[in-house]
Amino acid sequence: MEDVRTLLNLVYILSAVTFILGFKLMGRPTTARQGNILSAVGMAAAVVATLMFPEVVRYTYIAAGLAIGAVIGALFAFRTPMTGMPQMVGLLNGFGGAASLLVAWAEFVAHPEQPIYQGIIIWLTVLIGTVTLSGSLVAWAKLEERFIPTKPVLYPGQRTVSILLLAAILGGGIWFALDMNAPTAAQVLGAVTALAFVLGILLVIPIGGADMPVVISLLNSYSGMAACASGFIIQNNLLIVAGALVGASGIILTLIMCKAMNRSVANVVLGGFGADLPGKAQAVVGEIKPVKPDEAYLILEAANSVVIVPGYGLAVSQAQHAVRELMEAMEKNGTEVRFAIHPVAGRMPGHMNVLLAEANISYDALVEMDAINPTMDTVDVCMIIGANDVVNPAALEDKNSPLWGMPIIEAHRARTVIVMKRSMGKGFAGVENPLFFRNNTRMLFGDAKASLQALINEFKGSGN
Ligand code: NDP
Repeated sequence: MEDVRTLLNLVYILSAVTFILGFKLMGRPTTARQGNILSAVGMAAAVVATLMFPEVVRYTYIAAGLAIGAVIGALFAFRTPMTGMPQMVGLLNGFGGAASLLVAWAEFVAHPEQPIYQGIIIWLTVLIGTVTLSGSLVAWAKLEERFIPTKPVLYPGQRTVSILLLAAILGGGIWFALDMNAPTAAQVLGAVTALAFVLGILLVIPIGGADMPVVISLLNSYSGMAACASGFIIQNNLLIVAGALVGASGIILTLIMCKAMNRSVANVVLGGFGADLPGKAQAVVGEIKPVKPDEAYLILEAANSVVIVPGYGLAVSQAQHAVRELMEAMEKNGTEVRFAIHPVAGRMPGHMNVLLAEANISYDALVEMDAINPTMDTVDVCMIIGANDVVNPAALEDKNSPLWGMPIIEAHRARTVIVMKRSMGKGFAGVENPLFFRNNTRMLFGDAKASLQALINEFKGSGN
């Protein structure tokens, strides 16, 4: 029996190694796929090894859970459009938290007679798991733009309420951990769960607008921490390692996102992005200058260098293949074409990279914000496709704008700017964009894919 255990623990160690190597490989676009496969193989081996531990006595429930979970998961995956992926990732974080919460409750119900430290871990897992669950549900609703406004929801005494809630949860934790066997223990843990649920909601509703990427990665980190804590409860080494990896990488991603938004974590978590500011945002001056595809074509045809800024709208219209075709037509015409990638463009980290990779656009053509901005003055045409917040110059110029301080792709510095979007609709942060009114800006209204197709036809018609 001990030999089997040693062997299975060895599989765990190997799995942990594949996770770490997988992360390393995922750090570069060219090796990311291999990293993903390697980690997936490691995870599959870990699952099989776990099922072979002598503690697993009956497979019926496990098989039923697997079957139900697989059907629901597959349905979700097939039915979710590409543009719904960020919400789905947000929801999956919440399910991760819920799973840890259930593990903690199950362990408490099955073995209430346990030492204090075990009670503390159960309480901690319930706390983090529940906050992750309800926080992720709110984040999902905000990204889906349903049920809850995407703007921050603020109310008087918000921080005090959260602090009081946290204090009550802490008090409940001490009460619970001191005697898990007490007749009231289940009620106390139930109250902790309910309060933590409310806390999760209250922590995420005041955050909104352009700060949402930070919240998503923070919740991702929480789901890892909850898994790590539940690993301590059931003494599963791999769950501890995998949870810690997710928790740590989520925190690193959160810090990267914060840097990209020029905000501190505390500033984001305490909330209020896009809430009404004391001063008034600058009035937008200038007029809209719409162009037709044939006019936009003439501008592009004469350009030596074009920078394309993709945004959320490109994902909505699924125009990634069309943009590659246009890129090829322009390159054939002798134009240098580059893509400027903003770290929070779209609705999830790396959204634009994934989208453009799907259309086989070379990674060499993608340039990060910090590298492209210094070259912007020399760019003939900056073509913005379904992006809005990430090119809003108010972030640099208007102290009273909710976007103030967020680094942007400085499209406005290009000689000519062509903006492709359907209307004068605002971006995710709900802020007016003065770029659209500038002298050097032309608006090409319409669905991004249709506009791109019209431009491709112009290039084809001209023999290019
Ligand atoms: P925005 O949300 O600012 O703007 C997208 C624009 O696309 C809209 O103004 C819309 O205008 C246009 N659009 C929508 N559908 C189409 C279509 N079919 N064809 C053409 N245009 C279309 O996107 P950005 O990428 O510039 O910025 C991302 C925003 O999302 C930031 O505020 C960021 O903080 C936030 N966010 C990012 C996350 C991340 O991890 N990346 C996560 C959560 C939020 P119109 O309706 O007129 O067409």
